[in-house]
Amino acid sequence: MTWHKKAQTLAIDGRAFIDGERVWAKGEERFDNLSPVDGRLLGAVARCDGADVDLAVAAARAAFEDRRWSGMAPARRKRVMIRFGDLVQQYGEELALLETLDMGKPIQYSLSVDVKSSADCLRWYGEAVDKVYDEIAPTAESSLALITREPVGVVAAIVPWNYPMIMAAWKIGPALAAGNSVVLKPSEKSPLTALRLAEIALEAGLPPGVFNVLPGYGHEAGAALALHMDVDCIGFTGSTGVGKQILQMAGRSNLKRAWTELGGKSANIVCADSPDLDAAVAASIGSIYFNQGESCNAPSRLFVEESIKDRFLEKALDLLPSFQPGDPLDEASVMGAIVDATQLETVLGYIDKGKRDGARLLAGGARARAGSGGYYIEPALFDQVDAGMRIAREEIFGPVLSVFGFSDVNEAVRQANATPYGLQAAVWTSDLGKAIRTSRALRAGTVHVNQYDGDDITVPFGGYKQSGNGRDKSLHAFDKYTELKTTWIQVG
Ligand code: NAD
Repeated sequence: MTWHKKAQTLAIDGRAFIDGERVWAKGEERFDNLSPVDGRLLGAVARCDGADVDLAVAAARAAFEDRRWSGMAPARRKRVMIRFGDLVQQYGEELALLETLDMGKPIQYSLSVDVKSSADCLRWYGEAVDKVYDEIAPTAESSLALITREPVGVVAAIVPWNYPMIMAAWKIGPALAAGNSVVLKPSEKSPLTALRLAEIALEAGLPPGVFNVLPGYGHEAGAALALHMDVDCIGFTGSTGVGKQILQMAGRSNLKRAWTELGGKSANIVCADSPDLDAAVAASIGSIYFNQGESCNAPSRLFVEESIKDRFLEKALDLLPSFQPGDPLDEASVMGAIVDATQLETVLGYIDKGKRDGARLLAGGARARAGSGGYYIEPALFDQVDAGMRIAREEIFGPVLSVFGFSDVNEAVRQANATPYGLQAAVWTSDLGKAIRTSRALRAGTVHVNQYDGDDITVPFGGYKQSGNGRDKSLHAFDKYTELKTTWIQVG
């Protein structure tokens, strides 16, 4: 059966998930969920607000207080989490289809990246449940000081639309594994997979109330969570602007622990002594255009040493036709639809600004697949970009690459760091000393050397500066969702 046929028979349920049950918003409000693939109506989604947040937080609190999850033997909690991951894999086709219809990414990546990474993430944190030990402090003999980790309590997770399932898994994986209860708010642009995840978690054996999902708008359900007096911790992924509001709301309410994973304008520095120019071109181009450029860590600023720049651009332009947008439900497509009409206008607006500011558009940048009813843009490549231009400074979150030349790698590093963001960066060189000096000098949470797409659940992911605080993934993520307790025991 083709993916189009499967899409016709797919069940879509936009109701919220509170205390183990599917429910509409208390106020009966709903919003339309349109597919960016062809603009068609996928269905109605519950528009949750403060009243629903109160219900979900109360359910999460009750589950936390009676320890139905945190009190479960770690070996059993582990099995539930691993089964949760296994079921995500088992329902992979359905979840991938929902993801593609909801946010427009190519079906092949929804399957091979989004479903797989989400399942792996849940299983990995499940495995960790009974393998992380606490500590005993080296105090004097007269006492014993235990340093233990306890779940922080009720965790609110607010996530964006670009990798809806993976972003959810990066929050709920460590938060649930640590024994917390969670209220997840997916983006209003792509709420469907998060809602299915909650049903799947219940099927895996997660007790009702432990994991709740509230679809809705940021200024309604999102803000109500961030301001809630009974939410102990908020894990936010999204834009830097909203991240700042989240920290303020946490401060204005109960000083809940607030963790932010925010935007980026990552720099990719290719030196003339790059060990493999073809590999550098393929990774630079592939990484900016992957997921339609809608990746926080997309290397949107490319610095190429002048002596190889012409050759580099020639090779890059040769690759561009293979990134033309296609039907996301066609397994051969590598570039899909932009998430919605608003984002499409934003990206086209930046392309226009780049041209008006004097950058040279070497290729792409026009609307594509006219007549499909969906939102598609040809990948855009700008040369002769000036560091002061808006396309060079601001996160576009679309398939737009700005290229700069350099002749001194220290100058390239200075420019790479001249941004409020600090999520990722890369350097390509065969000089080991230069690679290490450059990666040390780059102010970013992740630096790649001679690659760009290194990604694994075992490594922390997060940013310096205004790209956020805290880290998703790896055992370090437990720091966000646990409190450290010291217990002094008098030994005598
Ligand atoms: P966004 O900030 O607009 O929205 C993110 C989430 O916050 C959504 O669920 C939204 O409904 C909610 N929200 C919006 N306003 C809110 C408010 N006032 N109070 C509470 N919640 C509110 O971001 P987006 O457009 O969904 O996602 C794109 C952004 O996410 C980009 O900046 C991208 O770089 C960033 N991102 C970062 C990472 C990372 O790990 N650093 C990963 C993915 C995406």
